[in-house]
Amino acid sequence: MTVRMYALECGRLTGRWKDMMEGEEGEVDVPIPAYVIEHPKGTVLFDTGMHPTLQADPASRIGERAARLFQFHYRAGEDVASQIQAIDRDPAKVTHVVNSHLHFDHSGGNHLIPNATLVLQSREYEVGMDAERAAKFGFDRRDIDLGHPVKVVDGEHDLFGDGRIVCLPTYGHTPGHQSLKVRLDSCEVVLTGDACYFCRTLKERRLPRFVYDREAMLASLQKIADMQSAGARIFFGHDADFWAILPKGGQPIS
Ligand SMILES: [Zn+2]
Repeated sequence: MTVRMYALECGRLTGRWKDMMEGEEGEVDVPIPAYVIEHPKGTVLFDTGMHPTLQADPASRIGERAARLFQFHYRAGEDVASQIQAIDRDPAKVTHVVNSHLHFDHSGGNHLIPNATLVLQSREYEVGMDAERAAKFGFDRRDIDLGHPVKVVDGEHDLFGDGRIVCLPTYGHTPGHQSLKVRLDSCEVVLTGDACYFCRTLKERRLPRFVYDREAMLASLQKIADMQSAGARIFFGHDADFWAILPKGGQPIS
């Protein structure tokens, strides 16, 4: 049985280093990744990038304050649905969207994937559906309240029951952040999302400024480091150097 995975680039952002890694100066350019994973029982999308409104008018969607923190390099054709089409796949055939968490660069394209079940950790979903708390966390209820079936999970969840695609709780960056462990034919990978922005985050344990719970995030990083020691390949959430060497353009990752 074969499980194939493809990397999609859904635009880029430039932001301040210190927002993404404490103690760092200057600016950093980061990719916005999404991953398509084809399993015999379904097609899974890990994260959905940014809402297309952010191509022209970010503030109108995510607010002035958040919009001021970044420069948006995001054009027509870079939304997640267009990127899926660009590798000759159909967004309407995606069966599951696993959102690592509900920040604008990870769940803003959910509405472009019409027939999927959303898979979220319960503590993330609860915050996202509560307008007051959502606003505090920079979440947008409009990203998850779209009429999709929602599968709310608590902790580890094996998506197809065969250990090939497993949601892993990596709380800390947000209340219910999750990563995704994928057993490809050749190796095991962990898509960390924002549990681990950069390769250096794991080595140096320097956290981003956007942290809900420092202790939990450090514990999640330790869990990721342990999986790496056990042989898993770690896919960092926003690491431009790592991203540059990944196959793209419809070439499977192996
Ligand atoms: Zn992010």
